[in-house]
Amino acid sequence: KPIVAIVGRPNVGKSTLFNRLTGGRVAIVEDQPGVTRDRLYRDANWLEREFTVVDTGGLDFGDRDNPFSAIIHKQAEAAMEEADVIMFMVDGRSGITADDEAVATILRKAKKPVFLVVNKIEDFSQKERYFDFYSLGLGDPIPISASHGMNTGDLLDAVVAALPENNGEEDDPDAIKIAVIGRPNVGKSSLVNAILGQERVIVSDIPGTTRDAIDTAFDRDGKRYILIDTAGMRRKGRIDEAVERYSVMRSLRAIDRSDVVLMVIDASQGVTEQDKKIAGYAHEAGKACVLVLNKWDLVPKDEKTMNRFDKVVRSEMGFLAYAPTIYVSALTKQRLPKILELVDFVAEQATRRISTSVLNELLADIQRVTPAPTDRGRRLKILFVTQTAVKPPTFVFFVNDEDLFHFSYRRHVENRFRETFGFEGVPMRFFIRQRE
Ligand code: GDP
Repeated sequence: KPIVAIVGRPNVGKSTLFNRLTGGRVAIVEDQPGVTRDRLYRDANWLEREFTVVDTGGLDFGDRDNPFSAIIHKQAEAAMEEADVIMFMVDGRSGITADDEAVATILRKAKKPVFLVVNKIEDFSQKERYFDFYSLGLGDPIPISASHGMNTGDLLDAVVAALPENNGEEDDPDAIKIAVIGRPNVGKSSLVNAILGQERVIVSDIPGTTRDAIDTAFDRDGKRYILIDTAGMRRKGRIDEAVERYSVMRSLRAIDRSDVVLMVIDASQGVTEQDKKIAGYAHEAGKACVLVLNKWDLVPKDEKTMNRFDKVVRSEMGFLAYAPTIYVSALTKQRLPKILELVDFVAEQATRRISTSVLNELLADIQRVTPAPTDRGRRLKILFVTQTAVKPPTFVFFVNDEDLFHFSYRRHVENRFRETFGFEGVPMRFFIRQRE
């Protein structure tokens, strides 16, 4: 999906516009405890086009002691580097500030469409309120009122028209696409190089519509893979580390295009907040996932260390309980061949289909052995279940009363499904429909 970034100084109304554009759309994998909900990235659609909106104002640019102008500078750079379309938002009530001018200076160099959005204009006849902004040199100012939703439709029309065509990112439909994601310095590049060093590379650096990852195709045992390397751009010197550090947009897009996510974690550092955030995207995107704990050579260990690590990973990233872990070293090449075996395995799990009759037999058994608890004298009855999709496996349950399908019972059903069918490494999606 293309990415639309909203840039601007605080209080101009970025998050109001963000909320309006994304309409509080909630991911389907709701109420799963432990999912890190970073609401700065949300999917939106307009005129049948889907895109992701990013509120750069909420991005954590780390260093609190940095002067504000430096932070907004980074926001603008990250947006220029990674977004397809930029909305630069200014405040029509306060007029142009020095920060606005600084950002405009950066954005004027952008090679992507930039829309100059003047917010807080409730009366479009007050042209003097927004005509001033012509001096920023970013074209026609577009007046809107984010809080009243005035002119936001026209703004979206323009934005959608400027989105890049998906000029057939059809890659190779049979290839397994693997996204290698993780924080900077966890060893993504090293892993990619080590993996590719052992495989028969067909094409490297496949030119694509996206410029924020390097794709490499290789064959193994007659199967085709495409490795999506988010760290590769930095390696090629096309992006500097500061921008990479502050941006998850490239990870998002790589995840979006992938079949399997290799979530790389630095075992010598343990699981960090940023790891959880990035992993959360893979989970929400419904992708098959393998947790790769790299730099295992640096960890002093005995025979129990791996188990202990597994426990930590499970408690820190409970929402990824289904994802297998593997402990590797890009340096010593320990267990590297095992990574692709796991990739094959989870990729296959993600495409499994269970027949409706088998599903409903299991469902009857679940309800017989563990009936749903009653709620105000009523008991949930699941009448029927069917699998409606793969990648991720998606199930629709028809029930007597959807309010009775509580989280705990849903979790129980999910666990029984996993015990019975596997689905290792893949999230499952449940939809509930009420039937009279
Ligand atoms: P990226 O930012 O995730 O792509 O990380 P890099 O691949 O650039 O690696 C960051 C640093 O960690 C480099 O100095 C690597 O040499 C080092 N490194 C990567 N993998 C390993 C590993 O398995 N063991 C050790 N000891 N160092 C590693």
